[in-house]
Amino acid sequence: MRQVGVLALQGDVRAHVTTLENLGAAPRKVRQVSDLAGLDGLIIPGGESTTISHLLITSGLRQPLQGLISSGFPVFGTCAGLIMLATDVIDGRVDQWSFGAVDVSVRRNGYGRQIASFESPIVIDGRGTVPGVFIRAPRIERCGPDVSVIATLDHGDGEHPVLVRQGSAWGCSFHPELTSDVLVHGLFLDALQEALR
Ligand code: GLN
Repeated sequence: MRQVGVLALQGDVRAHVTTLENLGAAPRKVRQVSDLAGLDGLIIPGGESTTISHLLITSGLRQPLQGLISSGFPVFGTCAGLIMLATDVIDGRVDQWSFGAVDVSVRRNGYGRQIASFESPIVIDGRGTVPGVFIRAPRIERCGPDVSVIATLDHGDGEHPVLVRQGSAWGCSFHPELTSDVLVHGLFLDALQEALR
């Protein structure tokens, strides 16, 4: 059974833990540096990226996590978690920072404010369709050459990637943990399994 951490400083931690349990992984909430020992991968949940970026510093987790992520530790960021993994954040707050693991430019709240939240089916080539829940979601406006686009969405403003991967770092604009569909987490766990083989 794979030990997968869920960064539990702020955001919708519980929903990720439940999804991982449903997939038979062993989730562990990560709040401090000692929680990282022996993990096979980490999920950074949605929430508020400015708060998560601040709490990563005060918890002492920023440096050890940056080291792990830079050396290929499997990581998956959803919504605010994607912002935390991006190389470039548009409309960010001046004091926020990110790990730079996925070479994308993301615009915070790029699909509109809370009131503009929406749900849309997301087609994952060859794997099926998942419900995409978008809440103050970041919009991916640029992808670097090493980024694989796994799914896109046209929400009336042109097609934008919504699920991407660069090596062992994955990110998505929506919240796969907020529905009972486990396909997206399953893709990450399959890749993690592959990487550990
Ligand atoms: N807009 C939020 C941020 O900038 C992310 C929203 C979310 O995770 N649902 O962090």
